[in-house]
Amino acid sequence: MADLPAPPTPTLTAIYASYEARQGDGFRDHLGASIIGKSCARALWYDFRWVTPSHHSGRLLRLFETGQLEEDRMVRNLRATGATVLEVDPDTGRQFRVEAHGGHFGGSLDGVALGLLEAPKTWHVLEFKTHSAKSFADLIAKGVVLSKPQHAAQMQIYMHLTGITRALYVAVCKDTDELHVERIEADPAMAERLLEKAGRVIFAQHPPARISEDPAWFECRFCDHHAACHEGDGAAVNCRSCLHATPIEGGWHCARHVQMLAPPEQRAACGKHLFIPDLVPGEVVDAGEDIVTYRMADGSSWSNDARITEAAPC
Ligand code: SF4
Ligand code: SF4
Repeated sequence: MADLPAPPTPTLTAIYASYEARQGDGFRDHLGASIIGKSCARALWYDFRWVTPSHHSGRLLRLFETGQLEEDRMVRNLRATGATVLEVDPDTGRQFRVEAHGGHFGGSLDGVALGLLEAPKTWHVLEFKTHSAKSFADLIAKGVVLSKPQHAAQMQIYMHLTGITRALYVAVCKDTDELHVERIEADPAMAERLLEKAGRVIFAQHPPARISEDPAWFECRFCDHHAACHEGDGAAVNCRSCLHATPIEGGWHCARHVQMLAPPEQRAACGKHLFIPDLVPGEVVDAGEDIVTYRMADGSSWSNDARITEAAPC
């Protein structure tokens, strides 16, 4: 009898590969309320400009899915207490959605609830999150505002843009299934500050300052954009990284072709793509129509030359 193959087995590899095959580029059309609490504005700008495609492992993608699957159970748990929980907006039949800045900023609520035992007459924004044991212990010790400021920021935006004054944060520990339930109040001043931050990121022509110039800084070490930000790696080619594209009310505009760009066109880009100079690790020494020449950090010259390419129909 043939020996069993050493782990990982082909089946395990195939399961993870199926997740990786479905992950796409990870780019979101809008700047998400779920990430506006990030401490580095430059990372948010890179997110919004589609600089770094996702390359998550199958194991991690499955972990993200676990978080999504948990949401249904949390809804059932809340309903079992007698609460009324709406996961979708009855007017649209889709998730409750908020947006601002011409549609460039927004997010979708996990749901809203009425009849919670703590405050039966008050509508609450619902936010569900799963945590590792370490993260969950910190949450219990400090509360969501101090332990998970990104989650707190997300709820402040949702409350502010829906007009709901309370949020219920329901967290589950993935190791023990223990639950943590916490209410937070709307803080309009904080929400306004977050909205201003989103606007600054969305309409910035240049990347905001780094949170640290040290590539080994702890937030940088875990940042998806580390290579583009600190190592001089190139950005992905799409309309968001092109110097001709600008976010305007309701969408993206291309100055080169004088037209609006739908998301699939933004992903495809065209032959006239020229990188935003801040995304090239060099200094601009010359520029003309459809060409920008750089002196690179090592002294060499590089031309971002789009003169010989055909502009694909956008
Ligand atoms: S690597 Fe650091 S400075 Fe650069 S975007 Fe990420 S967190 Fe910000
Ligand atoms: S359509 Fe072409 S020129 Fe216009 S923004 Fe996109 S890549 Fe740039």
